[in-house]
Amino acid sequence: MTAPRPLVAGNWKMNGLKGQLAELSAIRDAVQAGGAGRAEAAICPPFTLVAAAAEVCKGAPLAVGAQDCHANVSGAHTGDVSAQMLADAGAAYVIVGHSERRADHGETDAVVRAKAAAALKAGLTAIVCVGETQVERASGAALAVVGGQLDGSLDGDFPATNIVVAYEPIWAIGTGLTPTAADVADMHAFIREKLETLYGRKGVDVRILYGGSVKPSNAAELMGVKNVDGALVGGASLKASDFMGIAAVYR
Ligand code: PEP
Repeated sequence: MTAPRPLVAGNWKMNGLKGQLAELSAIRDAVQAGGAGRAEAAICPPFTLVAAAAEVCKGAPLAVGAQDCHANVSGAHTGDVSAQMLADAGAAYVIVGHSERRADHGETDAVVRAKAAAALKAGLTAIVCVGETQVERASGAALAVVGGQLDGSLDGDFPATNIVVAYEPIWAIGTGLTPTAADVADMHAFIREKLETLYGRKGVDVRILYGGSVKPSNAAELMGVKNVDGALVGGASLKASDFMGIAAVYR
């Protein structure tokens, strides 16, 4: 049994003007020089930079993604962007169900599932985010919460090869806090089991990323946990040196 190829993906969130593309070029050059080793690398800038980022990364081993998409292909949805539009702009990935979208826009598991379906139909790889709150973890409900999110956000009919799951405990996002390696191991083993139930043998190859305050100083420990197939990186993906310091774990 071979482990899936790791993925280190950066989520720039609502950060980045055209000037930030210089940082993207630095990441591209570092990945091209072998800085991410055996891992695949991707950066998900805001919508406004997706096409320009795709241009910067053209022909380079650095993929571009987006941070959300609409569930429909087109239509009367002012301000929204479809997965097909993202693919047309040069994106290969799209994050769906990030906890900030679930919180800020009331996205339910059903909405996330519809968005993931649209992304897959458009030929994108969907990075489906799940994760519990601090209260849920403290009450011992973390596995049940994440299990429910997976049941609601994934579909057994999805092509497993184009799905990535990102486990991001909400209380670890942007806080500097991280779960213990043992807690990450338990959660990722649980997610793997769920994926194998849903997708059979193909569930073994679905990448499960850990996200939440990953930085160069804790990346080796977190990425070394069984069933952790890479990272979804927020704040530390804005600086090439930090992002590459994380990706360097796979060199
Ligand atoms: C994220 O929001 O996807 C994330 C992981 O953020 P941070 O790395 O800043 O905690």
